[in-house]
Amino acid sequence: MAPSKVLAGARVVLPTGTVDDGRVIVDGTRIADTAPPQAEVVDVSGHWVVPGFVDVHNHGGGGASFAGGTAEEVLKGVETHRRHGTTTTVASAVTGDLDFLARHAGMLAELAQQGDIAGIHFEGPFISPCRKGAHDAQLLRDPDPAEVRKLVDAAHGHAKMMTLATELPGGLDSVRLLVEHGVIAAVGHTDATYEQTLRAVDAGASVATHLFNAMPPIGHRSPGPVTALLEDERVTVELINDGTHLHPAALQLAFHHAGAARVAFITDAMDAAGFGDGRYRLGPLEVEVADGVARLVEGDSIAGSTLTLDRAFKRAVTVDGLPVEDVVAAISANPARLLGLADRTGSLEPGKDADLVVLDDAFDLVGVMRRGAWVVDPRRG
Ligand SMILES: [Zn+2]
Repeated sequence: MAPSKVLAGARVVLPTGTVDDGRVIVDGTRIADTAPPQAEVVDVSGHWVVPGFVDVHNHGGGGASFAGGTAEEVLKGVETHRRHGTTTTVASAVTGDLDFLARHAGMLAELAQQGDIAGIHFEGPFISPCRKGAHDAQLLRDPDPAEVRKLVDAAHGHAKMMTLATELPGGLDSVRLLVEHGVIAAVGHTDATYEQTLRAVDAGASVATHLFNAMPPIGHRSPGPVTALLEDERVTVELINDGTHLHPAALQLAFHHAGAARVAFITDAMDAAGFGDGRYRLGPLEVEVADGVARLVEGDSIAGSTLTLDRAFKRAVTVDGLPVEDVVAAISANPARLLGLADRTGSLEPGKDADLVVLDDAFDLVGVMRRGAWVVDPRRG
């Protein structure tokens, strides 16, 4: 059991607002409301304390892949993102052969069972060939509910989300099947119209996979999926805030229209995140990372990001000018709620896991705590 600690002197972002000179009491693995005797006082004055980050869409990091790696490699990637503040990670698979995906999901399910990851996101193979991005065209298929079910079953209760092109044959039935099994149906890699997208939301789809990316843009006579997903109160929109995937004005548009309560920042990271430039794989496809931007070797498609959520946080505050509280909502509270984990993480409240991030006054990460234990100790600088 980790010793008790009181983090003192920081600006603490609570669900009710920011408290100057606040403190966070950690008793064992959880946040407490009163300090036990002999608690160690950690001076974090001049810093911010915010909830640990929650990433619902992430393919890897630290040179390791969630989409094809061994259990050991997945853990290495998870650990890399933890050092960048992500205390809760969903592992995202990419389009692959169905039998491979089912086997891989079985391995990831064991890691979820142990609490190392928060579950599995299937991105593909049930996506549109017109908007395939960095997915292998040979392996794409229409969303057959029986095949969707096969993947959900292979995840042994740990499937959290599946991205679908809901306009394809079997799309809406697949959305209904996912919702029945407690899995988030996400609209993405889609060529749907505005009307088709609304039908998907009516069927139960509740997340937009990286809004704007891998879907038709907004047209004044064809408002498309972006407009439908932004305007519907039932939908949370994922945004990749790395400065490459989205123009800052597009991010502002999404925030203004959806409101901070319906945005989830994601990394959509691939193996190079927290690692470096070079040659990698994303599922079956080869990717070249140069200057931190990942692109397919064949063709020119962006192939995930090299983002970590600490950078997304800093950028949101310092470049986009968003209020810190809105960023905390988008990076911690909202994704925790999506995953059904809001009673455990995503905000700094007594009884929840002591998952938190310490940022300096320039919004650079200086500390990470997960379940009461330091991943990055702010006193070691
Ligand atoms: Zn992705």
